[in-house]
Amino acid sequence: MNMAQKDYYQILGVPRDASVSDIKKAYKRLARQYHPDVAEDKQEAERRFGEMNEAYSVLSDDEKRAYYDRFGHAPSQNVGPGAADMGGFGFPFGDLFETLFDIGGGGGGRGRSANRPTRGRDLRVGVRVTLEEAYTGARREVAYQVEETCLNCQGRCTTEPDGVQTCKTCQGAGQVQRIVNIGFGSLTQVGPCPDCRGQGRTLTKPCSECRGRGVVNTRKTLEVAIPPGVDNGLSLRISGKGEPGQSGGPPGNLLVTIQVEPHPSFERQGDDLIHRHRVTFTEAALGARIPIQQLIGEPEPMKMPAGTQSGTTFRMKGKGMPRLGGSGHGDLHVMVEVMVPTRLNSKQKELLKQFAEAGSQEAEEGSGGFFGRIRDAIFG
Ligand SMILES: [Zn+2]
Ligand SMILES: [Zn+2]
Repeated sequence: MNMAQKDYYQILGVPRDASVSDIKKAYKRLARQYHPDVAEDKQEAERRFGEMNEAYSVLSDDEKRAYYDRFGHAPSQNVGPGAADMGGFGFPFGDLFETLFDIGGGGGGRGRSANRPTRGRDLRVGVRVTLEEAYTGARREVAYQVEETCLNCQGRCTTEPDGVQTCKTCQGAGQVQRIVNIGFGSLTQVGPCPDCRGQGRTLTKPCSECRGRGVVNTRKTLEVAIPPGVDNGLSLRISGKGEPGQSGGPPGNLLVTIQVEPHPSFERQGDDLIHRHRVTFTEAALGARIPIQQLIGEPEPMKMPAGTQSGTTFRMKGKGMPRLGGSGHGDLHVMVEVMVPTRLNSKQKELLKQFAEAGSQEAEEGSGGFFGRIRDAIFG
């Protein structure tokens, strides 16, 4: 078959003065119609498809198109060994793939991105803090692994001038087209080249230091300031401390994820703290001013009124966790648990019997006489 005889304009069904966008539109329409995945006659479709790719690759490129218009065939230097299998003229498969399926959105293609500036990956590291540290804030040294450019090869993956060669399988394109049988038909797939994993080049003499990876794992440590008020699952982003970027791209970030350890006496709910405090049943009945343990600092007094029932919660305003960013504190909720004595001596039993016989009226008179004696007998 002589490619020089083909009329690319006719193949795509466009006039000779068609604009690039008209050519693209026509190609897209035909490609959908004749794509071997959807066409009835696979063989014919594959032939037409190859033809269309060839036509499009020439007509969509100003330089190749001008050459074709003048000489009636495409510039021959682009036809190399293996090129025909790929659709001819080193057709940009990535472009085809994106054109057909409208993916990629803005040219974030794969395989060919090796030399494009890319931002380094974010790294994650976890840090455990106590609830007290979450309250006061803390400084922590975190250790993490980062991939840095190998100094031995400067990231070239080889130290030899001829250590890297253009991949013979894909001719450096990084991508190959293949027909995959899927049982009821075949599917034309464009995928990364299996021999060079989409890099377009193969490493024949890998650097001894990094074994051809171009990067080496380095352990790093960094002191991280944990602000007061942090909560479980919160991630602190430390800008620019992630993996280095490629080809001049910016580095990624280090994300420090906080885990706050549970506390034996305080439960956290957002910015509030919940604390269970045990009181005697006489304290609950008579009311009392009781010292309440604080997460940080000295105990603080809380007034509990007479007749407090077990399970009642009191709020100590502003005694909870500091709010992240420094706008005050949450509250401390004190849940009162009334303890009922389990073992009574004979004197206590006697007094309680008298208490029961006296009835509720008398019991509410206050702490002075009768009830006071019970309290002293039981807890004194
Ligand atoms: Zn190296
Ligand atoms: Zn390859």
